[in-house]
Amino acid sequence: MSLMTTCQSAEERLPGKAAKIHHEVLTLDSHVDTPLLLFNESYDIGKRNDPRRRGGKLDFPRMADGGLDAAFFAVFVGQGPGTPEGYGTALNRALTLFEMIHRAINDHPDQAELALSPDDAPRIRAAGKRAIYIGVENGYPLGDDISHLKTFYDLGGRYLGLSHTRNNQLCDSSTDREGEKHGGLSEFGREVVRELNRLGMMVDVTHISDNAFYDVLEVSLAPVIASHSNARAICDHPRNLDDDMLRALAENGGVVQLCILSAYVKDMEPNHERDSAFAELRQRYNNFQDLSDEEMELVRLEWNETDELYPARLATVADLVDHVDHIVQLIGIDHVGIGTDFDGGGALADCFDVTELGNITFELLRRGYSRKEIEKIWSGNFFRVFREVEAMAARLSE
Ligand SMILES: [Zn+2]
Repeated sequence: MSLMTTCQSAEERLPGKAAKIHHEVLTLDSHVDTPLLLFNESYDIGKRNDPRRRGGKLDFPRMADGGLDAAFFAVFVGQGPGTPEGYGTALNRALTLFEMIHRAINDHPDQAELALSPDDAPRIRAAGKRAIYIGVENGYPLGDDISHLKTFYDLGGRYLGLSHTRNNQLCDSSTDREGEKHGGLSEFGREVVRELNRLGMMVDVTHISDNAFYDVLEVSLAPVIASHSNARAICDHPRNLDDDMLRALAENGGVVQLCILSAYVKDMEPNHERDSAFAELRQRYNNFQDLSDEEMELVRLEWNETDELYPARLATVADLVDHVDHIVQLIGIDHVGIGTDFDGGGALADCFDVTELGNITFELLRRGYSRKEIEKIWSGNFFRVFREVEAMAARLSE
């Protein structure tokens, strides 16, 4: 042992030890909205972009820099009207997003590869590349035709988030201002959960109402995931899971993947200047409803300018790990993971983009989590569920 290491205290050795663990364990982020950046044709996901200069939070080189081996790219479709036209538009958008993700991967074959099953991530990592999985966020684009699920599966989709921030034809959302519509899952929603089980796609309970959550647990034959949700006991938001829900999730064998979107991590002090600037923007652009593509582009530009002028106060990695501690104390180490929601709002003061993910590992180690436990959090728990979902599908097809 060198003089150098013998002189270092345990505390001084921590960063090096954390960096080593972060590099060695397989890391997975179960939810990023980065595909939305691909609509901008000048965005090159194969190059390092500056996250503070509108560059987004993630690209393939920065995934490597940040030691992130695998990520679920979201095919996200916002909620619209439940009409044939609305469903048609939503389906087209979902298919476009699948196509853009495939193209982003195919354009950078030396950096990334499409991943479809749990074994793909370690294999792709060993080849020095990033494993890119696909998850669908919002069942809205299914319309009333369940056969689109198989299409999504065939295109590489491996989970479906049943709703987004508003109720849809599958179930109620946790944040619809108009309250509940179905009282949980609709009959179609139940069919969708059964079909997901049959296909071997994970059911994602993020965003759905508490009643819908319990309905899903009743209907699903396989464990479920919450791809980007937190603990309500630590941050009281309807979109987070309360302790009873967390216990039920553990009973189900599922996993909650913690989101780093500051507002769901910690209740921050109000920031009036920022709030009124955004309120003004919202008002000037008709609450962001019924805007043309050109107007939407203007909104994006002004949004970014406002964001730079009045930066958000952000929660920290320590605040995030408070959620880990709470969940582990409540239901053990086997049901928690990470799903950042980068480029969907995910950012902490000290985890602002994918290059800073190692800070989470550092904080976990500092609080006494072992390497084995950190590995479970970074991917082991999620892949256990993924494998069980695949195994159930195989059993159902016998
Ligand atoms: Zn979301």
